[in-house]
Amino acid sequence: YISGKKKATEVAHSIWKHFVQKGDTVVDATCGNGYDTLAMLKLVADDSGNGCVYGMDIQTVALENTSLLLDRLVHPNERMLIKLFPVCHSRMEDVIPKDTFVRLVAFNLGYLPGGDKSILTVSETTLPALQAASRILGPGGLISLVVYVGHPGGREEFETVQTFASGLSTENWICCKIEMVNRQAAPVIVLLFKK
Ligand code: SAM
Repeated sequence: YISGKKKATEVAHSIWKHFVQKGDTVVDATCGNGYDTLAMLKLVADDSGNGCVYGMDIQTVALENTSLLLDRLVHPNERMLIKLFPVCHSRMEDVIPKDTFVRLVAFNLGYLPGGDKSILTVSETTLPALQAASRILGPGGLISLVVYVGHPGGREEFETVQTFASGLSTENWICCKIEMVNRQAAPVIVLLFKK
């Protein structure tokens, strides 16, 4: 199961590379253990100290895990480019300065791997978070989601995400879905919404 999640995440990371440039500002809406945050940092950090990653999670332990990973693997100069916040992603506009040009907002939904499986993303906050992401994203930017439908509530959350995407205007958005069709027991889906 873990390896399927990892593969889906790798698919998302490989797509980010085509959109994100050095010096960009990006948002990790679900830091978890920090692997996505780290991948984002590597894409945005340039030699002159430009680039910025805003990361958030509702669990203190997740932000601690993210910090530990970054402190271990990232040079202090690059570490300074990451700002972590213990907030719900539906409130991302409270922590990201107004008029920031955001290139990517990434969600990796579900529960913290190795953590409390009862604390997980839910439609009630995922939907307002997607609405916030669509507002702060700059033209040409990308909302990326890795969604798991194998756990309780996962299918319903996926439907919420898909309904949100279907409501985005065809003039301003391109929305795609990549489905791991050989994982029927616990499907993982990567969704990409380009503004
Ligand atoms: N991106 C992570 C990584 O690379 O390790 C994995 C993320 S994990 C699948 C999902 C995370 O979302 C969990 O750490 C959980 O605490 C967090 N989460 C759940 N609800 C949230 C919310 N409303 N706002 C922000 N984070 C939330």
